[in-house]
Amino acid sequence: MTPSTDVVVIGGGQSGLAAGYHLRRLGIEHVILDAKAAPGGAWQHTWESLHLFSPAQYSSLPGRLMPAQPGQVYPDAGHVVAYLADYEKRYSLPMQHGVWVESVHRDGAYLRVETDGGNWRARAVVSATGTWTRPFIPAVAGRHEFTGRQLHTVQYREPTEFAGQRVIVVGGGNSGAQIAADLAPTADLTWVTPRPPRYLADDIDGRALFDAATARRRALDAGRADTGGVASLGDIVTVPPVRAARDAGLLAAKPMFSRLTTTGVQWVDGARAEADAIIWCTGFRPALAPFAGLRLRGARGHIATDGTRAVDEPRLHLLGYGDWTGPASATLIGVGRPARDAARQITELLH
Ligand code: FAD
Repeated sequence: MTPSTDVVVIGGGQSGLAAGYHLRRLGIEHVILDAKAAPGGAWQHTWESLHLFSPAQYSSLPGRLMPAQPGQVYPDAGHVVAYLADYEKRYSLPMQHGVWVESVHRDGAYLRVETDGGNWRARAVVSATGTWTRPFIPAVAGRHEFTGRQLHTVQYREPTEFAGQRVIVVGGGNSGAQIAADLAPTADLTWVTPRPPRYLADDIDGRALFDAATARRRALDAGRADTGGVASLGDIVTVPPVRAARDAGLLAAKPMFSRLTTTGVQWVDGARAEADAIIWCTGFRPALAPFAGLRLRGARGHIATDGTRAVDEPRLHLLGYGDWTGPASATLIGVGRPARDAARQITELLH
């Protein structure tokens, strides 16, 4: 028989844990299904030198402050994984690791969640699948002609495998800047950004991003003018390695090339750069494939939401994908509030 529960949360990274925390507080029966064998979500797979862009206490999920990492103002990814593993245990969250959710269907008063380990029936579903499993690379002319190596942020680990190689890093966000800074001392680096790099002021970090996203949401909710949010501050947090590489003159960016060749890239004026590898730090898309059968997809592959709730399927909430699912909801500190709101709305739905 298909087991039933009030809520199935799909994804057990930080967003799924924040949902579990608030559902548990409200006494709502739920299960969290996560494809990964171990806790930590996407943080298990980042490059080795990655550090958070906010101090530990500003990178906390609801209920439990992230402890400081000895010797580090900005914790590394391993510290985040340990924190999330501890969080899962501390609140006895009903996790099932190693379960891949294939699809979600309407089934009368229930949503049927089909997985590789059997099905569930739930009265509501929270999607917290993140974006890491959907790396995005733009369509660029000649993309399949290049005979060297092409990889995305998700596949980059550490600079030694590129030592002495000609590497082109594409992308003007935090991933692009941090990976360029990582490679600059040992590789023959070309950094390419669609527009000139926009660094945040050196004395502000991820805390300011959270404040800016929150201020924008409040302004829009109150019918005031758009404050511009995070984008108004810049694109790149100058974490210490980025600042050091920039100040050493190692991060001169070139504009976007117009095509790939068999051996590198070419700009519109005919200039060329040869490359052994191209690393695309060009972002992600939300991992929403399990919901294809619900026919909810709207603009840019998103599902239209009111807060976290899907406009055309009120039993579905989306959590953690970015500002369209709550201000700064794709950050550790930002996901708590939308998770609380989603849990409250689900309680109302169930009663
Ligand atoms: P994820 O961590 O991706 O977790 C989603 C989970 O769902 C995964 O375990 C996945 O396996 C699982 N899943 C997906 N699909 C299915 C399915 N169909 N069935 C079952 N399970 C599924 N944020 C900060 O707060 N501070 C920072 O300094 C910071 N730096 C960042 C640096 C980089 C390079 C990136 C990419 C992001 C950074 N972020 C930072 C943003 C954010 O915190 C992360 O993206 C975060 O991992 C998102 O958490 P999540 O739980 O929403 O998704």
